[in-house]
Amino acid sequence: MSAIDQRFPLNDETTIPAVGLGTYLIEDDQVAEVVKTAIGIGYRHVDTAAGYGNEVGVGNGVRAALDAFGLERSDIFVTTKFWPGNPAWGDDLKSKDQTIEECNASLKRLGLDYVDLYLIHAPFGGPNRLDQWRALLDLKQAGKARSIGVSNFTIDHLEEIEAAGLPAPEANQIELHPWSQKPELVAYMRARGIAPIAYSSLVPLSTWREERNEASAKTDDMKADGKIFAAMAERYGVSEAQLLLRWGVQNGFAIIPKSLNPERLRNNLELDGFEIDGADMNKMATMDRGDGVAWASGDPSLTD
Ligand code: NDP
Repeated sequence: MSAIDQRFPLNDETTIPAVGLGTYLIEDDQVAEVVKTAIGIGYRHVDTAAGYGNEVGVGNGVRAALDAFGLERSDIFVTTKFWPGNPAWGDDLKSKDQTIEECNASLKRLGLDYVDLYLIHAPFGGPNRLDQWRALLDLKQAGKARSIGVSNFTIDHLEEIEAAGLPAPEANQIELHPWSQKPELVAYMRARGIAPIAYSSLVPLSTWREERNEASAKTDDMKADGKIFAAMAERYGVSEAQLLLRWGVQNGFAIIPKSLNPERLRNNLELDGFEIDGADMNKMATMDRGDGVAWASGDPSLTD
């Protein structure tokens, strides 16, 4: 099965494409064209968020692609995320009712009747966190979201839901790449059928997010580590990006790489012509550096 067709289960009725398109940092007026191009190339999942400010453009891109390529709405998997509020950032916490309203507002901006996956973007909800999750359960019941989940949740946050006797999230979207493997969290999720969705898969690339100059923040040690991926990629005759993305899919993680560049979009989808062998997977397993790079899981507001 090619990476284009490969999917992972989320619940009894819903599966998520193994490879999707990330849209963080793509402007609203630019994203429709990127989404349409990506769907034309073969992408069937688009990941956005209320917080990205580009849901209108994502919705326009999805509709343009359905028309251009003769696709049905059900052919495209759309994820968006609810912003829970964060008092640490001067942002009021959303109540259960406000969570429902936020989903309706996202659907309106997207111009869709439902999303395939609705996520709580971060565990910032504090005392409202469980009510926000209850709202997502209601939204699923109402057919506004085919599946529901969370993002950036730790074991403690997932245990809070379990302890309240509520159904578990169907997915947890987290930073996952060879430098941030979160083995305990992933094992906890797997034991409970919570699908891992990997974001920022390309962090180890020397050019990662170079548009924001974030790659230059890497230490010499990290740069040396990066050369190991380059050497492995060369042996398989693939790009470093393909090696890092294949690592995710081979571990059973749905991935959502972002690119504005059509050649890279194509490259990021072509992951089925090779398999990382056991020795290299074992080597990569030793390269974990703990906390995330794109999103510091040490942020105290994540653990309250
Ligand atoms: P990615 O790991 O997708 O990396 C994106 C960067 O890599 C960009 O600089 C891009 O540049 C570059 N790139 C993409 N493809 C290639 C390639 N083949 N070769 C070389 N460089 C490449 O990072 P993101 O942080 O964007 O994560 C992916 C998605 O995950 C986001 O867009 C978002 O949808 C989601 N996300 C979710 C978060 C959450 O809290 N839930 C947090 C962060 C991300 P260019 O565009 O120029 O190609």
